[in-house]
Amino acid sequence: MEIKLAKTAGFCMGVRRAVDTVLDVSQHETGRKIYTYGPLIHNPQTIELLKNRGITAIKHIDEIADPKNALLVIRAHGIAPGDRRKIKESGVKIIDATCPKVGYVQAIIKKHTALDYTVVIAGDREHPEVDGLWGYTEGRGVIVSTLEDAEKIPAMEKVCIVAQTTQDSDHYREIVRKIQKKNPRAVVFNTICSSTEKRQEEIISLAAEMDALFVVGGKNSANTRRLADLARKQNTTTFHIETVRELKNIDLGPYKSIGVSAGASTPNWIIDQITDHLAEKKSRPNKKTAFLLNLWLWMVKTDFYSALGAGCLALAGMLLQNIPLSVASIAVASFFVYAMHVLNRLVTSKESGLIGSFREPFYLRHEKMFCLAAFASLLVALLLSLTGSIYAFGLLLFISAAGGIYNMKLLPGNRRFGRLRDIPGSKNFFTAVAWGIVTAVLPALSRGWDFSAGMAVAFIFTFVLVFIRSAMSDIIDMQSDRLLGRETIPVIIGKEKTQALLKIILLILLAILIIAPIAGWSPTLSIFLVLCVLYVWICFGLCDRRAGFSGATIEGLLETSYIIAGFAVLGWLVFRWS
Ligand code: SF4
Repeated sequence: MEIKLAKTAGFCMGVRRAVDTVLDVSQHETGRKIYTYGPLIHNPQTIELLKNRGITAIKHIDEIADPKNALLVIRAHGIAPGDRRKIKESGVKIIDATCPKVGYVQAIIKKHTALDYTVVIAGDREHPEVDGLWGYTEGRGVIVSTLEDAEKIPAMEKVCIVAQTTQDSDHYREIVRKIQKKNPRAVVFNTICSSTEKRQEEIISLAAEMDALFVVGGKNSANTRRLADLARKQNTTTFHIETVRELKNIDLGPYKSIGVSAGASTPNWIIDQITDHLAEKKSRPNKKTAFLLNLWLWMVKTDFYSALGAGCLALAGMLLQNIPLSVASIAVASFFVYAMHVLNRLVTSKESGLIGSFREPFYLRHEKMFCLAAFASLLVALLLSLTGSIYAFGLLLFISAAGGIYNMKLLPGNRRFGRLRDIPGSKNFFTAVAWGIVTAVLPALSRGWDFSAGMAVAFIFTFVLVFIRSAMSDIIDMQSDRLLGRETIPVIIGKEKTQALLKIILLILLAILIIAPIAGWSPTLSIFLVLCVLYVWICFGLCDRRAGFSGATIEGLLETSYIIAGFAVLGWLVFRWS
């Protein structure tokens, strides 16, 4: 089964801007209660999450009990000037997140109303955007929803026609044609947003290409409903679904190819859950390929793949330091990484709840089993480290305890940085340090070896790979992290700056790997490990959600940089022996 995700699926610019505005405000505003004028977006799941963050949607300004201590965010749809006036008079502080494209339509209406035009708005009567636009007509405008409504527009001296930004282009053209029959000199503006047009064009071509389409988004979202209608008009089986739960009752058997698109107010995490579910059901023509791919995805989901990666990095770490290979040290790294990842996921899964990625439901379903496996792995890692040296055991015990403290509340009350993990970037940093210790420092300590330049190279190599992989996941999860109030590096400094920072770090690693054998810090293996750097560089493209892969595949591909280290070691050994 082929699965294709529309490039245009998910938040449009205006919705993203409005959601970001509200989340920014909620992050920095401590004194005032935050309200939105109507639900911020037409997506019940996101509204629920905003409610959990203390952001309340109101229908009327009178619902605000203490206006002086309130802050009201105007959503992307905008509001009528009369409503704005009332809000201002109430004393509530306004933050305007009206989409600039909606603002443009408002400006057209305002100007033409002042010039005595009758403004005709083609749109859904009940839609809040249309309600706001109509307010700019000073009560002299007309709303036209159907072709019948358009027929009824009489001949007038001055007519201006605009559309709701999310109207169907063909429908608007028809409406304009009908009105122009009696009003040939009508001034017409194509105010349909380009993002809507592109989304509609893409769903039409997807419908032509695929056997079935899933349109994801709130059942109350007009633009999502319109997308589903457009797809149905192409005679393609179309399902309008809100969450992954509905997908479970649909028989996918008859479809060889499935397209997925989503409305302008559908968050990425819902789209991801759906593409992940579809990817799981994906049947592959070749049984061997299917088995291998499913095994790989299962290893990624269960964190066995990370553990395998830690083993590969420990192997590279020992060779970079020129110390004798130890299977016990490789096993310590694998067991420790497995234990820490699973325990961490079990803690964060509960917080993430319904917003979680492909891993959360899986982990929560088998919570006891994973908990047991994690503690057993930690115990095995500690016992194995004892076979090396007491110092190795002591260091491992210390970082294990630090892992526990990392998630604990250290400061009383609801302080912003009450836990170590609340410090922006701390997850990336501490994870990378822990990996660096178990793959570079512990193997040397186990053998009674001292600090060396090779150890520094091995530590930096692991640290950079793990730090970048972890930060890349944060870039991908930026939207949901913001909703959950997590302050990750991309949430604080933005996607572009994070990517630039990661690229600089990667280039520094590249320089160290090239210089290391020349300076005599480590063997020529470090040159072979440049392969990992090149691979990670290619992976930067995966940070773009529209790469079209499922969440599990993207995570697996990012973690493959560790496995490549293992292959680089093999290549180097073959090169040395030949
Ligand atoms: S669909 Fe277009 S006009 Fe409407 S909020 Fe999104 S970007 Fe703005």
